[in-house]
Amino acid sequence: MSYPRLSLYIDGEFIHGGGRLEQDILNPATHEVIGKLPHATREDLDQALAAAARAFESWRKSSPIERSNVLRKVGELARARAQDIGRGITMDQGKPLAESVGEVMFCAEHAEWHAEECRRIYGRVIPARHPAVRQTVLREPVGVVAAFSPWNFPFNQAIRKVSAAVGAGCSVILKGPEDTPSAVLAIAQLFHDAGLPKGVLNIVWGVPSEVSNHLIESPVVRKITFTGSTAVGKMLAAKASSLMKRSTMELGGHAPVIVCDDADVDAAIALLVPYKFRNAGQVCISPTRFYVQQGVYDRFVAGFVEKTSALKVGDGLVEGTQMGPLAQQRRVGAVEGFIDDARERGASVLVGGAPLPGVGNYFAPTVVADLPDNARLLNEEPFGPVAGMIRFKTVEEALQRANGLPYGLASYVFTRSNHNAHLLSTGLAAGMVSVNHIGLALAETPFGGINDSGMGSEGGLETFDGYLNTKFITQMN
Ligand code: NAD
Repeated sequence: MSYPRLSLYIDGEFIHGGGRLEQDILNPATHEVIGKLPHATREDLDQALAAAARAFESWRKSSPIERSNVLRKVGELARARAQDIGRGITMDQGKPLAESVGEVMFCAEHAEWHAEECRRIYGRVIPARHPAVRQTVLREPVGVVAAFSPWNFPFNQAIRKVSAAVGAGCSVILKGPEDTPSAVLAIAQLFHDAGLPKGVLNIVWGVPSEVSNHLIESPVVRKITFTGSTAVGKMLAAKASSLMKRSTMELGGHAPVIVCDDADVDAAIALLVPYKFRNAGQVCISPTRFYVQQGVYDRFVAGFVEKTSALKVGDGLVEGTQMGPLAQQRRVGAVEGFIDDARERGASVLVGGAPLPGVGNYFAPTVVADLPDNARLLNEEPFGPVAGMIRFKTVEEALQRANGLPYGLASYVFTRSNHNAHLLSTGLAAGMVSVNHIGLALAETPFGGINDSGMGSEGGLETFDGYLNTKFITQMN
């Protein structure tokens, strides 16, 4: 099975070789080396900075229709290449092929949404106090963007950032996820083939802290965008703000699900099991803390465990696989640590609870119940195939417990009562609430968290906010 050749992408050129340090890329299902990823040298990074700075000077003046046409073409090409790009994602990231191809097809819409919305980046005219004065407000691209995208949705997270930056008239240097690079290079090829001028998009790889320090410290870069863990996001945001640079941060979450006594329990189970174990739970909006009201607790948990036990785990390239391996070996140990801690504190593991034997980073889909409040699983983001079940008595109690963590990304509610739906959706301290269905992360809706889950939104009408400066002009005629 062929895996694409890996490279840097700087100033419109795909670059490899040249004696650069190369990193092995492993297939998480087989541990085979499938590719060699060149790391950028300091000279490469400086060339990317110079190219992005040069390209910004002309791209910032490009017309919205020109940007729109490039983005529209990217969407079209992404759909046409979804099978190949998806195969690359499954090979380096591990998720089942249908999920990988689905990620590309679904995210073609991000390019298309930005193609539509970039034509509506409007300023405004403010009526003046004097008849000879005209007051206008312009929204101008911030400049060169340094973007850092993660490994769990390598296509999704990168294309959202690049589409927003390019649509706003910015140029970008993107450091993609070194473990799962194929989708990011496929994005570079899409933009290249869609006619994006050279230097507007650049892709680099390396030791994350070295690359991010170099880029953020450069006076050329005016904006940082990062998706990843809260710990790293806080570090990067602190550095960016010390240099007075804008930042958008999409960080970790620990999403509560509140299932009330009056919920349609069967429908909730049918939606939540595949959603929990999608991408082996390595999803920042994955439901992780299941607060279930006492009247339906036993039924919900039994049904959830039954469906979880039936999941088919295996190599994502094999037809019928419903959950693949974890993306990296280190995640297996990390998830195991959560389960060991829960067991030591007296929790019951109802299904799964251990890595699967044999080659590959496999961890069994796991459900844990009777968790004490101080279990790590209820406090730190597990980022794996683990669901924690907690019984509650009153809806007010559930709300208080759901809001008990510094995270505030996604949350979910299942209830047939309008009163509960209103109380919970307005009361949950989260950037996103989904009630009685799963409806997050669409191109036309804002995606983002509050508190430790980050700042700023991607998608929706808000998508360009982080990439534009506001300029006020007042002119006397
Ligand atoms: P990690 O904290 O080591 O890395 C998280 C991401 O940040 C990776 O993509 C990594 O390449 C990048 N990174 C790390 N240090 C960096 C630096 N100094 N500068 C720039 N980028 C840097 O954790 P990990 O083991 O790779 O992933 C597990 C954790 O990451 C999870 O617990 C989860 O919280 C988080 N995560 C979140 C998302 C998300 O969508 N919000 C995505 C991937 C990972």
